[in-house]
Amino acid sequence: MKLIFATHNPGKIEEMQEILINLPIEILTADQAGVTEDVIEDGKTFEENALKKARFVCERTGEWTMADDSGICIDALHGAPGVLTARWAGEDATDNQLVSYTLDQLKDVPTGNRQATFCSVVVLLSPKGEVWIFEGTVRGTIPPVPSGTARPKLPYDVIFIPDGQSKTFGDMTEEQKNAMSHRGIAFSKLKAFLQRAQDTKEIDLSVL
Ligand code: IMP
Repeated sequence: MKLIFATHNPGKIEEMQEILINLPIEILTADQAGVTEDVIEDGKTFEENALKKARFVCERTGEWTMADDSGICIDALHGAPGVLTARWAGEDATDNQLVSYTLDQLKDVPTGNRQATFCSVVVLLSPKGEVWIFEGTVRGTIPPVPSGTARPKLPYDVIFIPDGQSKTFGDMTEEQKNAMSHRGIAFSKLKAFLQRAQDTKEIDLSVL
């Protein structure tokens, strides 16, 4: 039983391993499956990009593949940066630069108007080309200064306070974040689907 996670993002890999724990499926990363190239993420939606990433790896490995495309959509910026979340401060921007660039974009936006949505679209793709889509979103606000620590390539954790909480994702434990985060929600849906599929034989997981 094998499933490839089409990403090179170390933070996403750690979170996926924590969320999909206890599934009787061997999960490999793209690198472990021998796919080291990056796909060009030029889709207009999270779904388009997630599908693109999954197809890229599935075509090269012939294995079941999953991919996550995610980002933050800020109300006061009309939904920006959205699919450009990893790149809107420049193609080579570091995690710290992404955080300062984002805070700079919001420097004139008052406390009460700093709401944002974190979105994740997770795609599961079979070698036959069947597609399943799982989405997760979480609403929150962006504080004026960062707080906490973020995993590599997940910089926005230090500037996102989910609604109903008093601390940023960066100040939470992994379990706390995964229980309410966009990716936690999307991957939990995928996990439930895989568990159900295994029980009901809804899809042929023997080839997974
Ligand atoms: P992509 O899905 O590879 O296009 O990258 C999404 C980008 O959104 C990441 O590189 C991060 O910059 C940001 N991002 C997505 N999810 C999170 C998260 O949970 N915490 C912090 N940043 C995130």
